[in-house]
Amino acid sequence: MSQEALVQTVLACSQCGRMFAHSDVVQIAGSWVCGDCKPGYLSRVMASGWAASALGWHYGGFWMRFGARMIDGFVLGVPLVIIFALMIPNLLKTQGNPSNPAFGAFAAFSLSIFLGYFVVLICYEVLMLKYRGATLGKMACGIKVVRADGTSLGWGVSFGRFFMWNIVTSGIPYLNSILMLISGIMAGTDSEKRALHDRVCDTRVVYKQSIA
Ligand SMILES: [Zn+2]
Repeated sequence: MSQEALVQTVLACSQCGRMFAHSDVVQIAGSWVCGDCKPGYLSRVMASGWAASALGWHYGGFWMRFGARMIDGFVLGVPLVIIFALMIPNLLKTQGNPSNPAFGAFAAFSLSIFLGYFVVLICYEVLMLKYRGATLGKMACGIKVVRADGTSLGWGVSFGRFFMWNIVTSGIPYLNSILMLISGIMAGTDSEKRALHDRVCDTRVVYKQSIA
């Protein structure tokens, strides 16, 4: 070994333990890694979410996200309850009789309320995710939705996430109880707390103050 090499800073590879010159190792997720170990180490980092942990992300857990959904349900549900409460006198007028002319009008009105509510629900979730990265419930809980690389959501991902949760996971009668349970278990056990829709859309739910 020449005199020059001894003067150089020598670093140990965190994976194989061999000593290398500073120029022959790279720092990944806080650890020095040599050229031989780099490919394997990099794929393990990506698979386990260590890279995100190294960035200091704090993922939103099941109960915080559940709480955020409850707040959203309240925000969107209360106006709906008021509308239906106002409609009850009209329902009583029809006496539940389909041959009553008022019944048809009531059914048509109910259907348009339902469709209108659905449009409001789409606009609420998609617009809030696209422009704020969070619904009002998530904002109240201090969490937001980001892409895997930390960037904000585009139109496609915002809509995809709405579709995956509201239609696929929680929108199909009977099947939804199973899918919501699976999605909740996934979020609770995953190292990055990804629910089903996060895996499909490659999104993460993080505490806003933990992401720069
Ligand atoms: Zn190595």
